[in-house]
Amino acid sequence: PAGRIFVLRDITLFKQAAQALQEAKEAAEAASQAKSAFLSMMSHELRTPLTAILGYSEFLREDLLNRDLHSLTSDLDRIITAGRHLLTLINDILDYARLEANAVTIHPEPVHMSTLINEVVMTLQGLAKQGQNTITVTVEPDLPPVLADPVRLRQVLLNLVGNACKFTGQGEIRVHCYRSTTAEIQIDVSDTGIGIAADQLQHLFKPFVQVDNGPTRRYGGTGLGLAICQRLCQVMGGAILVTSEPGRGSTFSVRLPITGVPSAPCEVSQEDG
Ligand code: ADP
Repeated sequence: PAGRIFVLRDITLFKQAAQALQEAKEAAEAASQAKSAFLSMMSHELRTPLTAILGYSEFLREDLLNRDLHSLTSDLDRIITAGRHLLTLINDILDYARLEANAVTIHPEPVHMSTLINEVVMTLQGLAKQGQNTITVTVEPDLPPVLADPVRLRQVLLNLVGNACKFTGQGEIRVHCYRSTTAEIQIDVSDTGIGIAADQLQHLFKPFVQVDNGPTRRYGGTGLGLAICQRLCQVMGGAILVTSEPGRGSTFSVRLPITGVPSAPCEVSQEDG
């Protein structure tokens, strides 16, 4: 007798697999684009000081006999400044690359925040005085030692307090360390400087981002400092946040678990000002 056979096949799984494959492809493409963009930014950043070094050196060599001591010294100073910038840039790039590749190991030990913060402030007193800024430090009494990597934490604070000095002229910088929850401490670095526009805040922690990025840029730097700080805070199980108001100042806050890196990594978040 004649009959029909119906074959029903559930293709949901196939569809899900195809979709997952498509998403993986898109993620790989995005990662590859991000890598190319990073490499092209990096080459641009490296080329700028190197061009200055070569340009001034060649010019000096051709014109050496016509130079007096003053103009000679000022061109040599420019070469030294560009060389130093290049070295900082290379160190920052290496640091950032290691962090991105998860190749940075932290060495936690009990850190007395008062000692560490005062050391950082002492190191930056000269920079603060140059800009006629004052730095005040308050550390909550009886704060327990924090299990963190002192070298990396110092690097983060040097960058934040250094930025506060750089972007504040004749103002006040405050470093306040306190217990924000039973499990966390917070270090707020506040300044009364130029501030940052709300639409720029979300980009600050991306590599090579500098808010004032035009050819007449007044402030030196590599644009990698905050990207490095954010990743360092992450590997120490913490987070970094920023609030700011243009013309009034900024506060960068570092949050760290008192007992060191928790088993699940903390999310890094940002807040608008
Ligand atoms: P840079 O080496 O250029 O300072 P960072 O990553 O440390 O790089 O900072 C990125 C940018 O964020 C800076 O170029 C500046 O535009 C902005 N920024 C950082 N800190 C401050 C601050 N305290 N006040 C105002 N702007 C800041």
